[in-house]
Amino acid sequence: MKSFVRYSELFGKTFRQPPKDESSRNAQLLEQAGFISKLMAGVYTYLPLGLRVLNAVKDVIRREMDALGAQEFYMPALQPKEIWEKTGRWKDLSDIMYQFPDHSGRQVGLAATHEEVITHIVKQRITSYKDLPLALYQIQDKFRDEPRAKSGLIRGREFSMKDLYSFHADEKDLDSFYNRVAASYLSIFSRLGLQALMIEAAGGSFTKRFSDEFQVISDAGEDRIIYCPSCHFAQNSEIAEQKAGGPCPKCHGSLSEKKGIEVGNIFKLGTKFSDSIGATFTASDGSTHPLIMASYGIGPGRLVGTIVEVSNDAQGIIWPKSVTPFQIHLVQLSKGLEEKKKTERLVHDCLNAGLTILLDDRVASAGVKFKDADMVGITARMVISTSNENQLEVKIRNESASKKMNASQAIEFVKNYYAE
Ligand code: ATP
Ligand code: MG
Repeated sequence: MKSFVRYSELFGKTFRQPPKDESSRNAQLLEQAGFISKLMAGVYTYLPLGLRVLNAVKDVIRREMDALGAQEFYMPALQPKEIWEKTGRWKDLSDIMYQFPDHSGRQVGLAATHEEVITHIVKQRITSYKDLPLALYQIQDKFRDEPRAKSGLIRGREFSMKDLYSFHADEKDLDSFYNRVAASYLSIFSRLGLQALMIEAAGGSFTKRFSDEFQVISDAGEDRIIYCPSCHFAQNSEIAEQKAGGPCPKCHGSLSEKKGIEVGNIFKLGTKFSDSIGATFTASDGSTHPLIMASYGIGPGRLVGTIVEVSNDAQGIIWPKSVTPFQIHLVQLSKGLEEKKKTERLVHDCLNAGLTILLDDRVASAGVKFKDADMVGITARMVISTSNENQLEVKIRNESASKKMNASQAIEFVKNYYAE
């Protein structure tokens, strides 16, 4: 990724007005600020700014997956019907899965999820208990014919998913890995500046058992969460036996209902997929058993939308520092040759300090530049102007006061701010 970009050259500048055909706050803000562009309901292009944020989210996730010891790989999205028929999900998922014949008349589908394919691959390559446990993940676009794709990046019909799959010889091993993944999910969300609750939810088309969802409380959410403000007990209303106003089963406080955005979902699949696909391993005593499996999903695109929903103000987006598209939004207000040189020197020093910079070098008023900087929402802003002598103005997007300091102090300050 380029570490220095001029706003004058950037593809995807701000629009004066929010888009007329978007009802969700995240899509309005992201489109107006030049991060995304809508192609049709639930299908978006990530413009250069948006792609930087999406990639930053994926990097946060990737680091955690690698730390779990999972290996990254990449499966195809285009898949034959036969593999889905083995588990009965060609029919079960027919409402949501894009399914169609190719020119030869063969039925194919676009992946809505990947349990069938991963189990098929692992079946070919895992034979012994010595190969276990195994954890594989990918970050890839999924396709789902979502009936209500009106929530911007929160509900796409083509959307990015990180999906991790783990394979174990026994339940105990599965449980301990599952708990490690849950902890790593919580640290992903907290790195992204999101407060996520881990709650019990339905198993979906995967399993009859419950699954664990990660929910961010927000009015933009489509899920209803039964929630105890005293002890943080929470369940998806799909499975909750209690209702809002009723007593909390854990602490007897009074339950309330809140809306949540499901940002992650993890499932103990057991042997559902390995049984139907015939993925087995040989134990140390020579006996044969089906692999014990779990799957773990997280939505990088939905996370971008969720961050925007919970982190914005009347002026625009407020990016958390972990995923800000650039670390410094440098606003150049001076026009003289001497001043231009000063700006170049500052950019050079920032780059040397390892900071990424978006430089607003346009011929435009201070008002226009500040308004755009707020709308784009980069975490730290620096202003260089003739009137300030050798002092720069440094401002953190979600703080109201700015600070004046010289160039080297400013770079030090911003560097430390990101390192914290
Ligand atoms: P929902 O109930 O919101 O439709 P789901 O339970 O069907 O989601 P999963 O199959 O659990 O979704 O997918 C794993 C993760 O992928 C979700 O937790 C979410 O972060 C993301 N995700 C799922 N569907 C979408 C979508 N349509 N657009 C964007 N992200 C999605
Ligand atoms: Mg889910």
